[in-house]
Amino acid sequence: MKPAPESAHTQRWQLKPGDVLLVTDIQNDFLLGGSLAVAGGDEVVPVLNRYIGAFEKQDLPVYATRDWHPAGHCSFREQGGPWPVHCVAGTHGAKFASALRLPHFTILISKATSPDQEAYSSFQGTDLDHHLRAAGIRRIFIGGLTTDYCVLNTVRDARKLGYEVMLLTDAIRAVDVQPNDGQRAEEEMMQLGARPITLEGMSA
Ligand SMILES: [Zn+2]
Repeated sequence: MKPAPESAHTQRWQLKPGDVLLVTDIQNDFLLGGSLAVAGGDEVVPVLNRYIGAFEKQDLPVYATRDWHPAGHCSFREQGGPWPVHCVAGTHGAKFASALRLPHFTILISKATSPDQEAYSSFQGTDLDHHLRAAGIRRIFIGGLTTDYCVLNTVRDARKLGYEVMLLTDAIRAVDVQPNDGQRAEEEMMQLGARPITLEGMSA
């Protein structure tokens, strides 16, 4: 089989010191069979594993974020929120996908852990910014779930905080509560200065 010709839009990129991979919310409840399953969510797992491999190879840090709600969280419908019960701390639904190969050195960030606070951004109410600054991080590679909520809001905060952002467009999927929410979110992230990349564009 001939390899697909490289798209004119494929941006070349290379990892360097100061880069971090932020694997966002690859949890059972957002995947097939989960209470808030995202269409195509499972497809990003093998792709993220390849990004993880590239970061490992270059001894660069990997962070994994998770929605980590108490029972009765304000975002649940039973409390008047928009979502079905999902990612309750300690349950199977809150666990990372078993197919996700997180390295032993992965740093975990749990968010929306208080009953009365929603947090779509991984910076909100967490020590992520503190961790990244202490580690000398300047550029965040972000992928995971979901494009139109946690990825979008994390990118908004990352840009406000002055980080460069590389958006892994082959490793994100949207909830699309409204049609094209995901596409609009991607456009907004580009406008904020996030650079869209795919695995194809990686230079050794
Ligand atoms: Zn949640």
